[in-house]
Amino acid sequence: MSVPFLDLKAINLAHAAELEAAFKRVLNSGWYVLGSETAAFEKNFAAYCDSKHGIGVANGLDAIFLILKGYGIGPGDEVIVPSNTFIATWLAVSHCGARPVPVEPVEATYNLDPALVEAAITPRTRAILAVHLYGQPADMTPLREIAARHNLKLIEDAAQAHGARVNGSVVGQLGDAAAFSFYPGKNLGALGDGGAVTTNDDALAERIRTFRNYGSKVKYYNEVPGYNSRLDELQAALLDVKLPHLNDGNVQRRAIAAYYQEHLAGLPGLTLPVVPEWAEPVWHLYVVRHAQRDRLAQLLAERKIGTIVHYPVAPHLQPAYAELGFSEGDFPLAEAIHREVLSLPVSPVMTLDDAAEVVAAVRAALAEIGTAV
Ligand SMILES: *Cc1c(COP(=O)(O)O)cnc(C)c1O
Repeated sequence: MSVPFLDLKAINLAHAAELEAAFKRVLNSGWYVLGSETAAFEKNFAAYCDSKHGIGVANGLDAIFLILKGYGIGPGDEVIVPSNTFIATWLAVSHCGARPVPVEPVEATYNLDPALVEAAITPRTRAILAVHLYGQPADMTPLREIAARHNLKLIEDAAQAHGARVNGSVVGQLGDAAAFSFYPGKNLGALGDGGAVTTNDDALAERIRTFRNYGSKVKYYNEVPGYNSRLDELQAALLDVKLPHLNDGNVQRRAIAAYYQEHLAGLPGLTLPVVPEWAEPVWHLYVVRHAQRDRLAQLLAERKIGTIVHYPVAPHLQPAYAELGFSEGDFPLAEAIHREVLSLPVSPVMTLDDAAEVVAAVRAALAEIGTAV
């Protein structure tokens, strides 16, 4: 038996008939960009996120970028970002000409440490970009206080966290605006690329709607030099089929994660995720830490258990960010995390039997590592 890291085909085939019906409806509509399907999904997704506005865009990176553009953030500005995150968080800041200012995480939760944020604020800081990494919400309550005190925008990168909650409040409306990705592997995934912004800020919503469509509200009349970043009708229709199943998928992810938490507890050298009492994660990823991460991954692969490293290189050490002049040792916590993390399989189509197999393989692998010298 084997457990793949993620079986996207099974996830989508579970809704095959409804997805095919949606495809036929769009095919026969003769209207493929910015129409009733996108409008319907935007409304439903905004409601899911307890938000006033949902704006479909081309992908998650664009969603973050367009929020920053919408707030007029650009050259000369600084945006606080986590030192450990997927590169897209930083790219969105760079692409609008601003500078990403990294802040280290809380080691146990992998998310931005509010206690370190204030020291990174300068007169140039315009926003805090908090990431709900691995589907675990960032500590938004103190971040909101800090943002208010310094008159900064608080933006959520919720690309991995559709449906996660802080003290019972869903992500997507815990700051000024939130960015979501519908990349196929995300908790709510399209059959291609997609993204969305949610916000309660009327003016921001209006600006992003204009920016995503060439800077135009009325066709061929351009108010600002905008972009082409739209969620197309087909992806919107497919996402609207999957949205009502998102909570069930998250419940199954939670069951798998709970099984791991119980059955992997106390194993030598293995660090498990820690969930604060105010947090309700949606387990986009189940990430463990081990000093011999690569060896553990190899031993699991030999036992046909799929794993992936999220992520192998910290953003500040990527060649793409050589110009910022960071070097090894500048963000030691992020670097250690990137050296040691390993994601185990978790998905809505996994069973507890699959999870038991993963646990048995991890136990065997750790026993082998433990006896080797
Ligand atoms: C996936 C992801 C993004 C980017 O989303 P895309 O749709 O792939 O552009 C941004 N931030 C985080 C944390 C992500 O996981």
